[in-house]
This record gives sequence, C-alpha cells and structure tokens, in this order.
Amino acid sequence: MMESGLVFDLARFSLHDGPGIRTVVFLKGCPLRCVWCHNPESQQSRPELLFSPEKCISCGECVNVCPRHVHICTQEGHRLLRDSCAGCGKCAGGCFSGALELSGQIRTVDDILNTAALDQDYYGTAGGLTLSGGEPLFQPDFTEALLKGAKARHWTTAIETCGMANPEILTRMFPWTDHWLYDIKVADPEKHLRFTGMTNDRILNNLRLLDDAGASIELRCPLIPGWNDSDSDLQAIRDLADSLKSFPAIHIEPFHPFGRGKLERLGLPGRENARIPDDKDMKRWADFLLK
Ligand code: SF4
Ligand code: SF4
Repeated sequence: MMESGLVFDLARFSLHDGPGIRTVVFLKGCPLRCVWCHNPESQQSRPELLFSPEKCISCGECVNVCPRHVHICTQEGHRLLRDSCAGCGKCAGGCFSGALELSGQIRTVDDILNTAALDQDYYGTAGGLTLSGGEPLFQPDFTEALLKGAKARHWTTAIETCGMANPEILTRMFPWTDHWLYDIKVADPEKHLRFTGMTNDRILNNLRLLDDAGASIELRCPLIPGWNDSDSDLQAIRDLADSLKSFPAIHIEPFHPFGRGKLERLGLPGRENARIPDDKDMKRWADFLLK
C-alpha cells in the first residue's frame, strides 16, 4: 500500500491502549488544543523541531546543513527561526549530541504494518494495532488504510480518539475498528471550550452515533485536579456513561506534567500550572466514576 501519513511515534508491546498486547501508532495533528496536553508535539500537522539547549555543544553542524538558515549560533546562544523550518530533519540527523530532534515523519502503511508485524506473535486473540495521536481521524485516508491493513492480517484494531471529526469519517472507520477508546475531557461545553479551544457538541453527538451503531467503547478521562474534577464534572461523566447502551468502561488518566519540558523544547510558551493528583484525588475520582 502506498498510502502514507505523518507519524510522531510508534510504541511496541503496550498494555494500556486497548485489550491485550498492542502496537500503538501515534499520528501527528489534532483539532483540539488541550491546555494540559502531555504530547504538545502531536498537535500540529507538520514536522516540528525540539531543541534541548543544555545538550548543545555549539559544534555548528546544524548551521552548516540547514538549507533554510533556521539556526543562528552566536556568543549569546543558539536561536532558531522556526517559521522558516521546512521540517527536512537534516539538522537533527547531523546533531550528534542529541540536542535536536525532529517530531513527525512521513511513513507508509506498509512500513508501519511491517513494523507492527514484529509484535504479532504476542497479540494472541485480543491484541493488535491501536491508532493514537494526536488525532487519528485527522488523517482519515491514512487511518483507514492502516485499519484495513491490520484487519487483512487478522489483528484487532483500536482507535484512541478525541471524537472531534466529521461523523462521515467515523462511519467510514466503523467497519474496520474493533474498539473505540473515546476521550471525554469534560462534559460541560463551556469548560470544554476553555480547556480545549472547542465546544464538545460534535464530540458528544459522535459518541452517541458510535453507541447507536453498537461500537465497543471505553471512555478515557484525563483528570486534572481543580480543573475538570469537581463533583459536578465527575457526576456528568458518570451520567454520560450510564446513558450509553454499551455501558462503557471508564479509564481514568491522571494528569502528569511530562508535557511541560516539551513545550520549552518546541519553543512554545508555558501553560498554566496544574497540580499532580494525590491519593485522595484518585480515590474520589474512582468513587465517582468506577462504580
Ligand atoms: S548540531 Fe546540535 S550540538 Fe551542534 S550546534 Fe547544532 S544543536 Fe548544537
Ligand atoms: S529541519 Fe531542515 S529546514 Fe528545519 S531547521 Fe532542520 S535542517 Fe533546517
């Protein structure tokens, strides 16, 4: 298959992204801008450079190889003119100290499936391929081709989605998708807009569309203390789950601050601090949601 798409990571032997042992492909590009996103390099639909100044040994190789003159090394330090970057990766390839890393590579369906096939002996009947991101439905042709290719190899398939997509795209993926790992970040539309940049009407409508079609759904809830975990937030998620015909399991994803360092490396401004959850938070969340 010649279909290709933009991928920023691939994880083998995952136990947390659907049933069984799975290979997880992380597609780049997402319509939402969650303020707590722990993979901020997943959001843009183009390759992006991550720069770690503490690793730079000022060798000047990136200055020499970059065709777009993005890197400027002076006594004051190393500056990047990121808007000029074409994402070719030449500088990262030549940076032997590891100060530069390119997030986002074009990969073909065959390349991905052949890599996943290295794990297929461990899939058993439950495991298989999971498409995550970013948002897999943001690259629908690539996602559909990966799902079809996985089914042709008799693997189970899963999509981890924020649900913000044209309903026709979900309908297209439905025959090839065994499990939907469906993000519910917050049920309240105003809070959803504040924390993600978009309201959640389409997300909730799409969830009902999948539920009506008989999909296997697990709700995935990133919880951030003080932001989206009030009693009313939690009760609204519980009520939503209870209203679905499929009685979906709820998977709690506690906030962790891994994204903060990545924002600096991407040259992006820091975001509002969030507190790391403690045992008391986790117990309260479980009491509400994991009934
Ligand atoms: S190639 Fe890497 S180590 Fe050398 S100057 Fe560029 S960023 Fe620094
Ligand atoms: S990715 Fe390519 S265009 Fe961008 S800074 Fe590196 S060498 Fe230059």
